[in-house]
Amino acid sequence: MAGRHILVINAGSSSLKFALVNEQQEQFPIQGLAERLGSNEAMLHWQQDGEKHSRTISNATHTEALAQLLPLVEAVAGGKISGVGHRVVHGGEDFTAACLIDSKALTAINANTPLAPLHNPANLQGIAAVTALYPDLPQVAVFDTAFHQTMPAKAYRYALPEALYREHGVRRYGFHGTSHQYVSTQAAKLADLATNNSSWLIAHLGNGCSTCAVLNGHSVDTSMGMTPLEGLVMGTRSGDVDPNLHGHLARTLGWSLSDIDRMLNQDSGLLGLSGLSNDMRQLEAARSDGHPGATLAIDVFCYRLAKSLAALSCALPDLDGLVFTGGIGENSELIRAKTVAQLGLLNLHINNDANANCVRGKSGPIHQSGSRRILVVPTNEERQIAIEALALLNE
Ligand code: ADP
Repeated sequence: MAGRHILVINAGSSSLKFALVNEQQEQFPIQGLAERLGSNEAMLHWQQDGEKHSRTISNATHTEALAQLLPLVEAVAGGKISGVGHRVVHGGEDFTAACLIDSKALTAINANTPLAPLHNPANLQGIAAVTALYPDLPQVAVFDTAFHQTMPAKAYRYALPEALYREHGVRRYGFHGTSHQYVSTQAAKLADLATNNSSWLIAHLGNGCSTCAVLNGHSVDTSMGMTPLEGLVMGTRSGDVDPNLHGHLARTLGWSLSDIDRMLNQDSGLLGLSGLSNDMRQLEAARSDGHPGATLAIDVFCYRLAKSLAALSCALPDLDGLVFTGGIGENSELIRAKTVAQLGLLNLHINNDANANCVRGKSGPIHQSGSRRILVVPTNEERQIAIEALALLNE
């Protein structure tokens, strides 16, 4: 098979997602997921040539799962994988771009663990698993936060005592950087503009949701903050609430910090508002049957999203367009229409037919003539990770 191959890995605490990316092919030759690692229900699922396969891998660790999937991946790659690209959640202020993994990088990723206590250790486990099996294969870390390191201080600082920033790293970092970077680059291509001379508002709407203002290929502000809880309404995450809420719940209900963390991260957002589901498809169906909770959840979701986009427009001297991406952004005609309907002051107006047609992986414009651009661009974080890994291998 022509073209170099990068194996992209996204390791979670009990899962490992993978995709083999070929630099010359649009489709991934093989991709899959090892899940419930460490339990006797551990499974490996993969997709190859349009066919789905599964295998039981009882009690497998990350390394054992990787040992099972690597021969499959290598066979598809014709025996030659050029490198591995790892998604790493938090790079703090140490990483402004992707980097080759060496002992210095490992120490710095580890040092940022207090900022992402669940994610960074899992990402490190993925790196350790590859190192154990292929010590000589080049590995690259691509950070969710790195793209946002170009934000100016006025965007990333909280109005808190300076020592909290200086000594403890309390600031806004932003996430979904890989997606915002990929999507803004693709939007510029679609609009026939140079990435380094274009300005975009991006709405990444999946289970996690964030907005980003991208100026000349650089993030200048984003809705997520020190953690991925800040900002928009998400599947189960609250997004912005009054910062006094913690104190209020502790005083009046006696809730502990972990009770409050769980409520804000797992029981809130679309799920909390609707009392029904965190899944937008289910909420849209319930709304059309008149379900009041689903109707409210969708109203709050779209209003808060529109408000965030309008706020982020302050970061841009001009606006070439608004871009929707992520499972909801790429597929939901309703959410796009309801959000854009509240952004008339930015001269954003949707074309209903184009909006209805742009679903299931299609990209393209969905605005009326006379409106600023509104585009749908499917995200592809694996591709972006492979692009960044290949760029580093070229150096
Ligand atoms: P993740 O952030 O986990 O990668 P995705 O980007 O896959 O998530 O987005 C998942 C969300 O996309 C879910 O809320 C799902 O209901 C929503 N979604 C997927 N397809 C549609 C659709 N056709 N209409 C509305 N929402 C959709």
